Amino acid sequence: MADFDLIVIGAGPGGYVCAIRAAQLGLNVACVEGRETLGGTCLNVGCIPSKALLHATHSLHEAQENFAHMGLTSAAPKVDWAKMQDYKSEVIGSNTKGIEFLFKKNKVTWIKGWATIPEAGKVKVGDEVHGARNIVIATGSAPATLPNVEIDEKNVVSSTGALSLPKVPKSMVVIGAGVIGLELGSVYARLGTDVTVVEYLDHITPGMDSEVSRQLQKLLARQGLKFVLGAAVQKVAPAGKTKSHVAWKLRKDDSDGSADAEVVLVATGRKPHTAGLGLEALGVEMTERGQIRTDAHFATNVRGIYAIGDVIPGPMLAHKAEDEGMAVAEIVAGKAGHVNYDVIPGVIYTTPEVAAVGRTEDGLKAEGRAIKVGRFSFMGNARAKAVFQGEGFVKLIADAETDRILGAHIVGPGAGDLIHEICVAMEFGASAEDLALTCHAHPTFSEAVREAALACGDGAIHA
Ligand code: FAD
Repeated sequence: MADFDLIVIGAGPGGYVCAIRAAQLGLNVACVEGRETLGGTCLNVGCIPSKALLHATHSLHEAQENFAHMGLTSAAPKVDWAKMQDYKSEVIGSNTKGIEFLFKKNKVTWIKGWATIPEAGKVKVGDEVHGARNIVIATGSAPATLPNVEIDEKNVVSSTGALSLPKVPKSMVVIGAGVIGLELGSVYARLGTDVTVVEYLDHITPGMDSEVSRQLQKLLARQGLKFVLGAAVQKVAPAGKTKSHVAWKLRKDDSDGSADAEVVLVATGRKPHTAGLGLEALGVEMTERGQIRTDAHFATNVRGIYAIGDVIPGPMLAHKAEDEGMAVAEIVAGKAGHVNYDVIPGVIYTTPEVAAVGRTEDGLKAEGRAIKVGRFSFMGNARAKAVFQGEGFVKLIADAETDRILGAHIVGPGAGDLIHEICVAMEFGASAEDLALTCHAHPTFSEAVREAALACGDGAIHA
């Protein structure tokens, strides 16, 4: 039995970041991971493989749609799916190996296997019991499904199955128009799959700004994705040898609808992963949604046991997990760790990208808050037009009286990077005028952010 200052359970972005930061702060740290490789959902079956496939298929789309227009002519690229999967695996491998290197560099002990917590202060992996003055649970999440929908990872798949299909299907029904459904739906639509997205709500991207949802839906529909909104899926059943039948009821009039597809992707969210840890016997308090309940310092009700990432409430995002990982490491090391939940960006990596931070216009108006909204279309941005992406916009929301930035919503090129300028501004309590007075290089997409800030005041220049 080895004794550690801290044992982290789970090596996803929450767990591995926590382990590295705690080691940097001088603690003797181990991280237990049940998978063969480090990096968790994010590196193995989430953020990273999906972005590899989005990049490859975006390149294909560019070649098909825009190359000839720019005078680049040659035979249209053909899709070698097996090779694209190899490229995806290479990207995963180089990233997971990178975490292994960081563990060695920072002297974090990697304990391989599935952990249980037999009692506070102890972590059991296989037959070995390790002492731990502190335990951080970072066991993440797993795909959720719907009643009457069974995932077999062949015809009816979760995101994990969808990332590694044996071939590009002719047709796909995606259940759920959230981030994962839209990103993977885009991948397959660009590869030529007939994609239908079925969503329970009457709009896509639940929780996001309604103007953004509408614009993104319009642009994705132009790329060939079909949408059935306000539809409650009733069941998914086999239809012949190779297809599945998806049946739904439209919520507005209870009418029936259905579609048959080679592959059904269930993208209806994720559930916290706590099975097998022994939390019930320990008396760890849970929320009604099966997440581990923690206080503002990530502590559970059991002394010395903390939890972070997808397994606790909050947005299920890798960077939220990472921030919590760093914060809890600092807390365990006797410092003051903190996460500002008001400034956590969310990004959808479709083309165009979508990014948001802070409050929505709808939410603030519903509260009766006096706000200013500065909008700027990428049509007024020379760089965006040069790359055929003039159809999005930046929307900046500021307090009507103080001009303090409250939120931002972007559909457009590089939105996932542009949003960080606004995050930094919000962290510093900046006003829209502060952004508007900051010189932005020309020609860049980021000029659109400045123009939206100008639109909160006397007006944008290129609108
Ligand atoms: P996880 O990454 O889930 O890691 C938990 C780890 O704990 C796993 O490796 C698991 O094997 C291990 N584990 C569980 N139980 C035990 C045990 N008992 N013993 C030992 N090990 C255990 N987020 C973004 O921010 N950006 C994106 O672009 C993005 N894209 C995504 C795309 C897809 C397809 C999916 C599915 C998710 C995506 N996410 C994205 C979400 C992101 O992956 C998660 O929010 C993030 O991985 C959560 O990190 P975590 O550390 O809490 O848990």
